[in-house]
Amino acid sequence: MNRNCTRQRFLEAHGDLPPNQIVALIGSHRRLSWPPLCPACGGAASTHIDVAKIFGRRAQHGSSAYYRLIVRMPIPFCWSCAERHQQLVKHVPSVIGSFFRTPAVLSFAGAVAGAAILSSIFLQGENVSPGARLDAFGGIVLLAGLGIFITAREARFLRVPPLTDITSACDFSDSVGYPFGRRRFYAIRNPAFADAFIRANQERLWTDAIRKRDDWISGIVFVVLVVAALIAWFVRK
Ligand SMILES: [Zn+2]
Repeated sequence: MNRNCTRQRFLEAHGDLPPNQIVALIGSHRRLSWPPLCPACGGAASTHIDVAKIFGRRAQHGSSAYYRLIVRMPIPFCWSCAERHQQLVKHVPSVIGSFFRTPAVLSFAGAVAGAAILSSIFLQGENVSPGARLDAFGGIVLLAGLGIFITAREARFLRVPPLTDITSACDFSDSVGYPFGRRRFYAIRNPAFADAFIRANQERLWTDAIRKRDDWISGIVFVVLVVAALIAWFVRK
């Protein structure tokens, strides 16, 4: 997904919120300060919900490959909103359940089949040297491990429920700052929480000054790339 498109879609989805409830921050979301308030109702926070979202990104360097990732944030909520969330949240499969529900389980099945073939030839067969048996055993362990790894990696995505009416009170975008580092938008339903959130993360605000600096850098990088391409073209002629 193109980063500008990501930004556009997020801002459009939250177009009903006043501008001061859309907060743009730089840096890692792991270092954010969360105010002790509930973003859904503005009451005092007494617990938190690990809110997870799946984002799709295009691999860099002009390739068309696409990958997915999960971003998690421990967002504070009050007890009653957290309880309401528990009632609303879509049920997701367990670790084992998701493992067998993802299409990636085919890679696990393939690995098991490969391991079974190796085993029947090298482990159960006759006239096989001990060295070959050991190699085959290593291959079987590697195949099984790889199958489990690939499948478990994909199964994680089945265990991320969509946001509820409660957790969407503090929605967040994917990082839109490429290539300048991490910049993320937060859309907050409760004005008091938004206010406290901005104050708590004052030094992480994505200010106009940083935006201008980013624009300057991207302008300079663009010119450098064009000049480099022209030089390469002249040199080749
Ligand atoms: Zn609440």
